[in-house]
Amino acid sequence: MTSSPTSAPASAALLERASSVIPGGVNSPVRAFRAVGGTPRFIREAQGPWLTDVDGRRYVDLLCSWGPMILGHAHPDVLAAVRSAADKGFSFGTPSENEVLLAEEIVNRIAPLEQVRLVSSGTEATMSAVRLARGVTGRAVIVKFAGCYHGHVDALLAAAGSGVATLALPDSAGVPAEMTADTIVLPYNDIAALEAVFAARGHEIAAVITEAAAGNMGVVPPAPGFTAALRRITREHGALLISDEVMTGFRCGRAGWFGLEGEAGYAGGAPDLFTFGKVMGGGFPAAAFGGTAEVMSHLAPLGPVYQAGTLSGNPVATAAGLATLKGCTDELYPRLEATAHAIADAASAALSGEGVAHTVQWAGSMFSIFFRDQPVTNYDDAREQDTAAYGRFFHSMLDAGVHLPPSAFEAWFVSGSHDEEAIGVVLDALPAAARAAAQGS
Ligand SMILES: *Cc1c(COP(=O)(O)O)cnc(C)c1O
Repeated sequence: MTSSPTSAPASAALLERASSVIPGGVNSPVRAFRAVGGTPRFIREAQGPWLTDVDGRRYVDLLCSWGPMILGHAHPDVLAAVRSAADKGFSFGTPSENEVLLAEEIVNRIAPLEQVRLVSSGTEATMSAVRLARGVTGRAVIVKFAGCYHGHVDALLAAAGSGVATLALPDSAGVPAEMTADTIVLPYNDIAALEAVFAARGHEIAAVITEAAAGNMGVVPPAPGFTAALRRITREHGALLISDEVMTGFRCGRAGWFGLEGEAGYAGGAPDLFTFGKVMGGGFPAAAFGGTAEVMSHLAPLGPVYQAGTLSGNPVATAAGLATLKGCTDELYPRLEATAHAIADAASAALSGEGVAHTVQWAGSMFSIFFRDQPVTNYDDAREQDTAAYGRFFHSMLDAGVHLPPSAFEAWFVSGSHDEEAIGVVLDALPAAARAAAQGS
């Protein structure tokens, strides 16, 4: 069952207007609900764990802006910081103090991290990290993993390589094959494939970029030993390791996924470069990439690798990010995990009760429910799920006032503001959604 436009008339009307001036009516494709069908909800306002759409309906938000809203919407401390910063002007085009404070807050959370450069989106962070890795090593080839998303960078929009170390073909029109010719795509969690590609081409490889724990094919954490193998093999061949923590950073724990695995998980080392975004912007456009002072010294104005941004380190965005990270305390993470487990356990019980095949996978408090009964370790596994069942489940939840991610290949996110009332609405919606998932179309 997909909701008809009449169940969301104001959203449907806005979508129609939007579609004449914005391609597909949306400014980021997944928002269009193509994977689940139906009318995307235009949100008028959000408070704590609640979204209110333009028809006046309320939803418990399990999307949290795809991760950033870790404290909940319009959190009073963040709001106060944003207002105070905005009172003093919006952008200076000069250095300002908030940038220093945010950089210090990030660097202080992750022991091996010494410097960060602030940018405005996760895409910019990964694009810049790749350029820096190529500049530092003087090599061109980048290894990425199928199903890992690193923003819409040309060289990283290749995920469809079938088999091992095939020439990566671009996933998007408008990306010339030359842009991905130096990209090698391997299956996630496959150490043997990594060993093989490094044995053959190690001297050409500038970097391996990986999601610290994958969250963009649904949640697929690294298998035990995978992270350590990445660190060991890259080091043996003089390649850099770029850990993309745009989603996991400050979300899986106060030091992101790195904090959960620790240096031991990284074979006693650390990634050479990290990328961050989402949570560190607190809902505003702020992101970062960083590493040791030595690696970062290759960036302009110190070194020859150019990178810049008119709005980088924006005073309002950095104020929001700083206030959000200040709220990301040691007490927050157990609370997020408890909330996420209450929801995931109940969802799993409801689905089991209806005989719906599913698997729940975790990275900190991030989780997703795959509609298949086997564990998912890579993108091929993730694609073998019943996406139609997810669509029915999604729409039943939406009709009951719960906004899930509109795709089976995404993580579910909770916030510190999800209280008993919000969790109760989710739990109440689950039995009918599980029945809908079981029913077939
Ligand atoms: C969201 C995301 C990006 C891209 O960030 P944008 O701010 O959307 O450009 C990059 N990497 C990962 C792991 C992400 O989850």
